[in-house]
Amino acid sequence: MSETLANLLQETREFPPPAALAAEANVTAEAYAEAAADRLAFWDKQARRLDWARDWDQVLDWSNPPFAKWFVGGQLNVAYNCLDRHVKAGLGDRVAIHWEGEPGDTRTITYADLLRMTSQAANALTDLGVTAGDRVAIYLPMIPEAAVAMLACARIGATHSVVFGGFSVDALTNRIQDASAKVVITADGGYRRGKPSALKPTVDDAVAQCPTVEHVLVVRRTGGEVTWTDKDLWWHDTVETAAEQHEAQPFDAEHPLFILYTSGTTARPKGILHTTGGYLTQVSYTTHAVFDLKPETDVFWCTADIGWVTGHSYIVYGPLSNAATQIMYEGTPDTPHKGRFWEIVDRYRATILYTAPTLIRTMMKWGDDIPAGYDLSSLRLLGSVGEPINPEAWIWYRQHVGRGELPVVDTWWQTETGGMMISPLPGVTAAKPGSAMSPLPGISADVVDDQGVPVPNGGGGYLVLSEPWPSMLRTIWGDDQRFIDTYWSRFPGRYFAGDGAKKDADGHVWLLGRVDDVMLVSGHNISTTEVESALVSHPSVAEAAVVGATDPTTGQAIVAFTIPRGHVDTAGEAGEALIAELRNHVAKSLGPIAKPRQIMLVPELPKTRSGKIMRRLLRDVAENRSLGDVTTLQDSSVMELISSGLTSGK
Ligand code: ATP
Ligand code: MG
Repeated sequence: MSETLANLLQETREFPPPAALAAEANVTAEAYAEAAADRLAFWDKQARRLDWARDWDQVLDWSNPPFAKWFVGGQLNVAYNCLDRHVKAGLGDRVAIHWEGEPGDTRTITYADLLRMTSQAANALTDLGVTAGDRVAIYLPMIPEAAVAMLACARIGATHSVVFGGFSVDALTNRIQDASAKVVITADGGYRRGKPSALKPTVDDAVAQCPTVEHVLVVRRTGGEVTWTDKDLWWHDTVETAAEQHEAQPFDAEHPLFILYTSGTTARPKGILHTTGGYLTQVSYTTHAVFDLKPETDVFWCTADIGWVTGHSYIVYGPLSNAATQIMYEGTPDTPHKGRFWEIVDRYRATILYTAPTLIRTMMKWGDDIPAGYDLSSLRLLGSVGEPINPEAWIWYRQHVGRGELPVVDTWWQTETGGMMISPLPGVTAAKPGSAMSPLPGISADVVDDQGVPVPNGGGGYLVLSEPWPSMLRTIWGDDQRFIDTYWSRFPGRYFAGDGAKKDADGHVWLLGRVDDVMLVSGHNISTTEVESALVSHPSVAEAAVVGATDPTTGQAIVAFTIPRGHVDTAGEAGEALIAELRNHVAKSLGPIAKPRQIMLVPELPKTRSGKIMRRLLRDVAENRSLGDVTTLQDSSVMELISSGLTSGK
């Protein structure tokens, strides 16, 4: 990795914070100084943003690495911190969730409503025999009950395991079995791409193989027909009739809050375990700091699904612990039309938008005129997460969504880190498009070479986290050894994130994609991210995925799959000319070594359900192999589309 091309990433643009935002920012440059002076005192202070039933005796116990304990001896209740304390402070009438279903139905839920719903669910789960430490699987569409179910578990100390509503029987079965869940909370179905999509049959098939499951709670969402078993209970019969009062008990800071399985982009899913006090401290603080959230006036919208960590940390726990008003949307961005997101921003006057590069690039492909058709003037801050954001996508986002003036925060973090780790601070950082910039206050990250030695500015290597952080995973559920092997063995004493990164001349961090995706061309390490960014910087390209294919002369050769922007003509000779132009464009931007051997124009790219490109399948195509496992693909017909596009001469 240290041998990355010297001339890669020539991006030099810089965007300082808007003066008005900087003047009023929740967090200033002082936070970096404070945390640098005493990291643990800094986190001690941030933990006090929450309500604790018992104070802690020690901020961090790192006597048995890599098993950390934060806020040792402290006790708190997560749901109390997200709900009760706000209602007690007189904020019961504040809207917690503006919910919008895909068909256009809406619900407005205040903090008082959410507390009542959560208390009822907590009582119902208790009546079903769920006690602290039990595991509950949640398999729901993006409806308010998903947040209620999570908060109800947190309230009674049950550990939730949310499984993305698009996952198959096998994926759900494995996750229920791995955690020995006692209850499953699901729905008859949800709305997806303009029609009801059933969930209950998947649960029926899974539960039939999971003897630990005693009850299945079913929310009625679509009204579709369901097969009923003797474990099933309707949510409206059970939860909505339960007592509305529930006294939240405090739990130990290290009490298990949730298990979340990583998406499996690269390997067998891992049950990432997060606990209570440190997790809530960091997600609550980062929501406040990175989104500069002003709960009295902001309308926050994170477009992730609750089935991903982004939904856990920045739909449920981060915003609610800060008493934010937020938007929650059930469906897809192009149902019933491609302006749906902007219509929602416009309707609810969203002020902060947090979304993924995959969506931004899709919006680029659909065309600039779509966001231009809506009033986006309420927005004041934009965020990105999930993949490296190419500079051109960053610029497009700022230009066409952010009126050319809003700060964009590119936030690097993982399921394992629980909360944001590397990101600009919107009132402080002069952001560079494509860079996640610097570790947040209280976070220690570095880029190291093969030997674990920090690389100098300008160098590239592996991203590591060099000190424990409050919302770090505590282990892999039921497999401490895999936890040690996966994250702590490559560079002893430091957490290995699995991502390649580079420090620029100023020491700012640029993420280069997964270490597994790095290509080796004629002895040079080349990152997929950099070649993709070069392609996307061409005005005719909306999105690109790059892989290394075995090559007899260069070891690996660069093969690029490229989606042209909506208006671009790619028929016949125009397509050939575009391909030639793109190859030269990459060579010109990055140097001849990075010139793709082959560029294919395709209508779509294979993505996981969380929207990340599955380069593994593209490698299969590039090397003329039959396709590997496609079960985690969002849309399995995409691979056919790509292959048929190829044979038709594109
Ligand atoms: P799996 O670990 O099962 O393969 P996953 O890594 O996709 O799945 P997540 O934890 O959701 O699951 O994603 C974290 C990864 O996403 C990071 O390791 C990184 O590769 C990528 N990522 C997230 N945010 C950013 C960002 N702002 N810039 C660059 N990469 C990012
Ligand atoms: Mg990962």
